[in-house]
Amino acid sequence: MKAIIFDFDGVIHDTFDLAYKINVGLFGEELTEEKYRDFFNGNIFENKDLKKKDNDDFFKLQNEAFKYLKIDENIKNNLEKLHEKYALFIISSNQEEALNTYFQNNKFTHIFKEIMGAETHQSKIEKFKYLFEKYKLNVNDCVFVTDTLGDILEGNKAGIKTIAVDFGFHKRDRLEKGNPFKIVSSFDDVVREIEKM
Ligand SMILES: [Mg+2]
Repeated sequence: MKAIIFDFDGVIHDTFDLAYKINVGLFGEELTEEKYRDFFNGNIFENKDLKKKDNDDFFKLQNEAFKYLKIDENIKNNLEKLHEKYALFIISSNQEEALNTYFQNNKFTHIFKEIMGAETHQSKIEKFKYLFEKYKLNVNDCVFVTDTLGDILEGNKAGIKTIAVDFGFHKRDRLEKGNPFKIVSSFDDVVREIEKM
């Protein structure tokens, strides 16, 4: 294993409540938590119910809220540990602007070689291809760590193995539908699984 590619939301930071509340503000109370979780069964930008303006309004509010997020100490320590042995990347549907703010504020910008968000491409499949080419990586030397079925399915299309975490946006039963390589329940277990690969 040479490179670990992380999703951000629900993996590195539990942003579910923050994101859900902003969306209730935009769409009203009829957006239940379950309906919101369904947004992530596929690529969020391919969701026909979400207009470009919805995404723009969401990111405006979310990016402001991201200024106040503090990274979890245990996740931070585990990422430091992985950083010693592997090249670490982020492929996210969130905006690079928000993620850069987060890592700058948490003084943690040295950990990831590159952060690829919505500004790079809306498709995660395209971002995987771009990353493999740019860093001359073979897909078999990489693993993707994520928390949603939609991401697992995009990972499958790119041919990358996925470690799914069940402490993010989707629970185990939903993650299983994407047939990930492994499903784990803590960040410590993410590290353990990577070290076994
Ligand atoms: Mg996620």
